[in-house]
Amino acid sequence: MIIVLRNGATVEQIEEVSTRLTDEGLKIHLSQGVEKTIMGAIGDRQKIESLDLEALPWVEKVVPILAPYKLVSREFQPADTIIRVGGQEIGGKTVHVMAGPCAVESRAQIMETAFAIRESGATFLRGGAFKPRTSPYSFQGLEEEGLRYLAEARDKTGLLVVTEVIDARDVSLVAHYSDILQIGARNMQNFILLKEVAKCGKPVLLKRGPSATLEEWMMAAEYIMDGGNYQVMFCERGIRTFESYTRNTLDLSMVPALHALSHLPVIVDPSHGTGKWHLVHPMAKAALAAGADGLIVEVHPHPEKAVSDGKQSLTPERFQTMMNDLSRLTSVLDRELGEVSKRVD
Ligand code: PEP
Ligand code: MN
Repeated sequence: MIIVLRNGATVEQIEEVSTRLTDEGLKIHLSQGVEKTIMGAIGDRQKIESLDLEALPWVEKVVPILAPYKLVSREFQPADTIIRVGGQEIGGKTVHVMAGPCAVESRAQIMETAFAIRESGATFLRGGAFKPRTSPYSFQGLEEEGLRYLAEARDKTGLLVVTEVIDARDVSLVAHYSDILQIGARNMQNFILLKEVAKCGKPVLLKRGPSATLEEWMMAAEYIMDGGNYQVMFCERGIRTFESYTRNTLDLSMVPALHALSHLPVIVDPSHGTGKWHLVHPMAKAALAAGADGLIVEVHPHPEKAVSDGKQSLTPERFQTMMNDLSRLTSVLDRELGEVSKRVD
C-alpha cells in the first residue's frame, strides 16, 4: 500500500504514521519527493486498512499498489531516481558511457583502455575480475588482482569503476574496490546474491536475465530495494530468441517500458545485446534515442587478442567514432554526455 501525505506534513506527523504501521509489524519505505512524501507499507493489506490512516488530516490517500513490484514502481516514487556516485549523477539529464574490456586481463591492458576511453568521453571503466563463463575451462578472471588494477586505473584517470560480482561471499571485497556492482545476466535471479548486494552500500547495475520477463527483472530489483539499497539501475543486455545471427536480441522496447513503470535509471549494453562489434555503434544510438540513461560498452585495445568477447569489442578508435556520434545525438535529445572532470560535488 502507498500512503500519500499532504504537502507540508511535518516530521512528527510522518513519524506518527510510521509508528502506527511498524507497531503492526509492517515494513516501511519512505520516498521523500520535492513536493510529496510517500510511504510504502509492505505487508498484510487488511492490517493497513484497519488502521484507517485516511482519517488523519495529514494523510491525503492510501492506495494499494496492484503490481507485484512495489518499491521499484513509479507509483511508489513518481520522480526519477538519480543515483549519485563519486560525484556523478546517473538517471538525470546526463548520459553516462561505461566502457572497457569484457575481462581484466593485465595491468597494462586496463591502463591503456582506461586512458583511451576517458579521452573519448567515457565516465566509467568496466571490466570483469570475476567472470561467469559458460565453460569451466575458459578464463575465470584475475579476481582480487584484477580489482586492484581497476582501482588503480580509477585513481589515475578519475573514471569510476563498475565490475561484476558473481558470489555472495565476494560482495564486500568487490564493493571495497569498485563504485558500482554489476549483477550479471546469469545471476539476475540469484536471490542470495541480490540480498547481499542490498547490504553493500554501493549502487547496483542489474542486468536482465537472458530469458527474464520484464516483471521478473523488476522483481529482482525489488529484492535489492527491499533489502534497503535504493541505488539500483536496470541494464538491458539482450535476451535469447530464435535469432542466431546476433548473440542476443537487444530488446530496446524495455527502455521506455521501464521508464513508464519504474523510477529507476536504465542502461543499455549493445555489446552483449548483439555480440558483433559492427552492430554496437548503431544500437548504441538507438538506445539513446529510446531514452537510455547510459550505455555499457566493451572496448579492448586489441579485440583479436581478447580472452573473452573480442568479437563484440570495439577498438579505442571505433569507440571514439561512436562517441563523436553520440555526442551529437545527445544534444538533439536535450541530454549531455558525462565528463570525468565535471564532478557534481
Ligand atoms: C559482461 O558484462 O561481461 C557479462 C558477462 O555480461 P552479461 O552478464 O550480460 O552476459
Ligand atoms: Mn563480456
